This record gives sequence, structure tokens and C-alpha cells, in this order.
Amino acid sequence: MTTAIPELKITPAAHRLSDAERAQRMGSLAFGRTFTEHMVVIPYKDGAWQTGEVKPYGPLSLDPSASSLHYGQSIFEGFKAFSQPDGSVKTFRSEQNAERFNRSAARMAMPAIPPELFLKAADALINLDKGWVPKNVGESLYLRPLMIATDPFLGVRPATEYLFVLFASPAGAYFPSGVKPVNVWISEDFVRAAPGGTGEAKCAGNYAASLVAQAQALEKGCDQVVWLDAVHREFVEEMGGMNLFFVYKEGDKTTVVTPELTGTLLPGITRLSLLQLARDLGFAAEERKLSVQQWRDDIAAGRMTEVFACGTAAVITPVGKAKANGFEMTINNGENGPVTMALREALLAIQHGTAADKHGWMRTI
Ligand SMILES: *Cc1c(COP(=O)(O)O)cnc(C)c1O
Repeated sequence: MTTAIPELKITPAAHRLSDAERAQRMGSLAFGRTFTEHMVVIPYKDGAWQTGEVKPYGPLSLDPSASSLHYGQSIFEGFKAFSQPDGSVKTFRSEQNAERFNRSAARMAMPAIPPELFLKAADALINLDKGWVPKNVGESLYLRPLMIATDPFLGVRPATEYLFVLFASPAGAYFPSGVKPVNVWISEDFVRAAPGGTGEAKCAGNYAASLVAQAQALEKGCDQVVWLDAVHREFVEEMGGMNLFFVYKEGDKTTVVTPELTGTLLPGITRLSLLQLARDLGFAAEERKLSVQQWRDDIAAGRMTEVFACGTAAVITPVGKAKANGFEMTINNGENGPVTMALREALLAIQHGTAADKHGWMRTI
């Protein structure tokens, strides 16, 4: 066992795109379709992380018996780098992603990666591909770290060989024509995560298991699925791959409520940040359980005035309508709400460096 951080060998692409070629590829950025020129790969074997490499982006070579392909030891993360007004580049809370990556790894019986190595990989990649960090507000460079088991072995047991991979994708504004509320289908047929399961981990299988529920939501005329707790099918957990917030307005008092982390919710870093930002903006912020019945009652009584979802990719997405078997409710007339938009602006301002970073969330590359 070594405790020193392994080296990263830097092998830049022999032919770099010209500024014009890169600008052309960055012209219309659909989320997750364009990738930068490099990636990082770091192998793990013999109980230790080995020398890694920053090299041209391209296919990985895997043995067909690689156990991640069969038994799903596969985890990922997502965080963003933002261009700052002074020309520098900063990532948003990437240390938190490194820690969560290791919690996911622990749940899937995979090795931890030293957070310093995770961050060093990000620094190296962003430095080499700096020209790929978009400059406009709402745009960013999305970083995607992942780890897969690579053992060529068909036995079911934790693998002994892994690959850490990091690549990047320039991301345009998630809502190119402006923020617009989504409609959600509250799923009673499918669950995302059960107590004792893997709901807290960003493991690949969770997302495969969510796809039929998402397809059902589309069939019901909705954009996204809302997950309920697996045991009672009563308490609201998340929306697709995003956490949910509920806004209450009573007299002068505004309270934002997000479902508490019970072990079946993914602990979002955007969620954590918005709990803090809500307090900074003078709102009360609570984490507690919220049933569908309570949601319906509070909308009907006019106490609950807005609902939104949050996550790294889309930042904040308002919810305009929620449907389930037998009922449907409209939230804030199906329009963007003021608390939702204030929180969105506040978060984006910190990320883009136009508001003070009071909590030390931004990390300079
Ligand atoms: C990644 C993810 C989130 C959001 O987490 P962030 O850290 O805010 O990006 C929420 N729910 C699920 C299921 C997720 O996979």
C-alpha cells in the first residue's frame, strides 16, 4: 500500500483542434453530446492506484469478461467548471463530489480514490482543455468521473482491478429558450430505491432501473417521474435524477422544504447548497418527510406556492404540474415562481463569479 498520490502522465493529442474548429463544435451544445479532446484514465490493481494518464479522448478497451459489464460495479459523478469574469476557471464544490464518489464506491465494494487524486485529475484535464470551458452565463464544462471494475473474471465477488476515468463535455444552457416548468408523473408502479438498497449511491444500475418509469411518465404526458418511498408508496423522494424542493408562503414567511435524507435519496450537492442559499436569502429551510397527500392538501390550501427540482446538470427546474392515477394538480399556474427563480439566480451568480463566494464553494483550477 502506498499513500503517495500516483503521478499523472500527460500525453496531449498530437493534433489539437484550432480555435475555429473548437468554436464550431461548441456552436450548438446539446447536453452530453460533445466531448473535449482529452480524458484521464487511472488504473487500480494490486491494491493500489497506479500511474494515470491524461490522453486523447477515445474508446476504452475492455475485456468482454470485465465484471462491470455483468455485475454492475460501476459508479459515476457529475460536477461543473465555470469560466470566471477574470478569465480563470473554477469548479463548484468538486471536493464534495470526490467524497460522494467514495461513498458510492464503498457501497459497491469498490476501492476509494484519494480525493486529492480525483481533484488532481480534474485540474489536469481542465488545464489541458481550458479552451472548452464555455464563457456565457448558464454554460459550463461538465465533468464526468466514473469507475468500473475491469477484472476479466466471471465469479461474483468484488473485483480486484478497476479503472477510474474522467472526461468532460461542454454544456450549453439547459433551457436554451429560457427556464420552463416541467410536468411530473408521480409513480406508484415503480420505485427507485428501497431501504438497505443503493439509492444513496450514484451507481449505474440505479439509472437503468429508472428508465421504464421515465418512459411511463412520458406516456402519461409528463416530462419526468417523481419517486415515492418504496415501503409506503406515500412519501415523496426525488424527481428523476434530481432532488425536490417545496416552497411554502404563509404571511411574510417563506419556507423551503426538501425531503429528508432517509438512505434511499441521493444526497445532492445542489440540494445541500440550496438549503444554505435559502437561509442566506432570508428563507427558512427544512428537511423533512412530505407525503403526496400533504402535497395535495398544501397546494389546495394555497400554503404551498412553488415546487422545483435541482441537480448539477439543470441547476433548478420548476415543476408546473403533478399528475398521478386519479388526480392532477397545477402549481403556481404552471409558471416559474419567484422563490425558485431567486434561488436559481443566486446559485448561478456564485458559480459564474458575479456574486461573492461566501461559503468557499468555488475551487480555482
Ligand atoms: C446526481 C443526482 C442528484 C443530484 O445531485 P447533485 O449533486 O445536485 O448533482 C439527485 N438525484 C439523483 C438520483 C442523482 O443521481
